[in-house]
Amino acid sequence: MSSKSFIFIAGPCAAENSAQIMQTAKALSKIGVPIMRAGIWKPRTNPNDWQGAGDIALDWMTEAKKKTGILTATEVKDSRTIELAIKAGIDYLWIGSRNAQNYALLEEVGRATAENKTPVILKRSMSSSLAEWLGGAGYVAKYNPNVILCERGIRGYSPDTRNILDLQTAYLAKLQSNYKVIVDVSHAAGRTDLIFPMSMAVKASGLDGLMIEAHPDPKNAKTDSFQQIDFKEIKKIFNAVKN
Ligand code: PEP
Ligand code: MN
Repeated sequence: MSSKSFIFIAGPCAAENSAQIMQTAKALSKIGVPIMRAGIWKPRTNPNDWQGAGDIALDWMTEAKKKTGILTATEVKDSRTIELAIKAGIDYLWIGSRNAQNYALLEEVGRATAENKTPVILKRSMSSSLAEWLGGAGYVAKYNPNVILCERGIRGYSPDTRNILDLQTAYLAKLQSNYKVIVDVSHAAGRTDLIFPMSMAVKASGLDGLMIEAHPDPKNAKTDSFQQIDFKEIKKIFNAVKN
């Protein structure tokens, strides 16, 4: 698979400030990474935790895109954030794991992107079967067929990794649908030492791409600091999968 068709998305778990986003965009585009991710409205387990920078981060993303040409991706979680992200020209919208079976939201993002066919990345819910995952995609695809499935690990019992990377079901999703299937290795692993080997496994399996969390200063990231890698490591992975 050529670098043109292998999807590669990298960037911080969360957009924290404009300098971090600009620095990330510059570093990633220098490497050749075509798409930058950053969470703007974070779905946090604890309501008292920091909830993301919010609407202002759209400006940081737009600014970084204008400066570097990198495409942008962010998570949307309701009608308001869908509308704002589209208005700001975000190139890829994604639906997070926690919302992956919210059928009203899935229809809504489908309808909102129907005209321009903006790609919608659908994360797999942390407990969904293949049928549930594909069914969820169908709700978006009713309006916008440009859906990309994203495996991000399923719940397991082991305390050693955050989730279990389920390449088997990701591959079945590809066999049983016409959607592209990518893998978010960061939320599956939950630790940095598995990002490189699992990325190689994704590439070797013939799946369509990767989403990887990367931060200019991973140890001091405001969210998911234990799983974000630096740009040097991103470069190593990108160069290893691009041909
Ligand atoms: C994320 O990508 O930052 C995220 C919260 O992922 P997930 O919805 O897969 O947990
Ligand atoms: Mn994260």
